[in-house]
Amino acid sequence: MADIRITNCHIHVFTDQHAPVDFPFPAARILRKSPMLILAVASLLRLLGRENLADQVDRLYQFQQQGARGSQDAILRDVKEHCPGDTRFVVLPMEMNGAGYGDVPISLRDQHDDLARLRLHPDHLGTVLPFATVDPRVPGSVEECLRAITELGFAGLKIYPRLGFAPDHPRLMEEVYPVLAERNLPVMTHCSRGGVQGRDVDDYQADGLTRPAAYLPVLRAFPEMRICLAHFGGARDWEAYMNAKPTSGGENWMTQTREMICSGEFPNLWTDISYTLFRFADYAPILRLLLKGNLDSDKRLRRRVLFGSDFYMTRQEKLSERAVCIRLRDTLGEALFQQLAETNPAIWLGEASEVDRSLWTSLG
Ligand SMILES: [Zn+2]
Repeated sequence: MADIRITNCHIHVFTDQHAPVDFPFPAARILRKSPMLILAVASLLRLLGRENLADQVDRLYQFQQQGARGSQDAILRDVKEHCPGDTRFVVLPMEMNGAGYGDVPISLRDQHDDLARLRLHPDHLGTVLPFATVDPRVPGSVEECLRAITELGFAGLKIYPRLGFAPDHPRLMEEVYPVLAERNLPVMTHCSRGGVQGRDVDDYQADGLTRPAAYLPVLRAFPEMRICLAHFGGARDWEAYMNAKPTSGGENWMTQTREMICSGEFPNLWTDISYTLFRFADYAPILRLLLKGNLDSDKRLRRRVLFGSDFYMTRQEKLSERAVCIRLRDTLGEALFQQLAETNPAIWLGEASEVDRSLWTSLG
């Protein structure tokens, strides 16, 4: 086995104290205080013979327990249990003050400061790559994001447009992206139909803000900035692709992401396989097929896909972090796994430069 130093480009360690009190619905306040209620529902379902539903509720319980861990440090230690000791993690925070679900107990500033401390903790030294986050609509959020980038020296930016803002929001275009571009730092963005949504944002609006094509103005204005559309289109669009079914809006985001990367028009557009690949048995064969081709377009794709898991969101799925990582390595083979988990992350993070840029004619 080759000696591969894995970089997991997509994990979360925020706790329920970083989410608004009424999220995802007002009764959540009660559920948080009495998780036993969820377990009671699971056993009731089991009594009624609804095994599958009961399993799902059990996993929801695990997910909630993870978020209820006292600190970001405790959650980080949990994911580390699953990975080789030298694994590095891109840690992505969340800004939910603009989501419309009430106050967030811990401020974004404190969330960022906590990640900065985590990076310096002797047990985590060299393994934590904190990203800053922002909601350009929330007063003070842009300033705090820039503080994390320029003063705390964070490694990149995470955004979450489904909350209700466009990726080309004027404050991002004028104040945030220029700083990232100048510092050669990457952007990670949530790009699937699932996940969190602002309270006043319907599915149609959320999809409009999230779809790969929504990034075209950003890609054109900042052609040198590396942007990763996380989740490779998302599980729903992979399922639609697999079953040749239509998706809402008539566009498949997996296909759209792939075409945008393969075209060669956007040399700094990336994607990651986080969360989506936790439906492993269904999707791993497609991923292998997409990545193994010999055309120039296949080679481009191979060099723009990042390994990431989306821990601890994946606590709602059957497979563990370790199980997915091992299966992926086995399915893709050592060379391809190394490309996704070691070589590509170093380039995306700006630590290494690409040796052969000839695949992208626009880079000359
Ligand atoms: Zn995520």
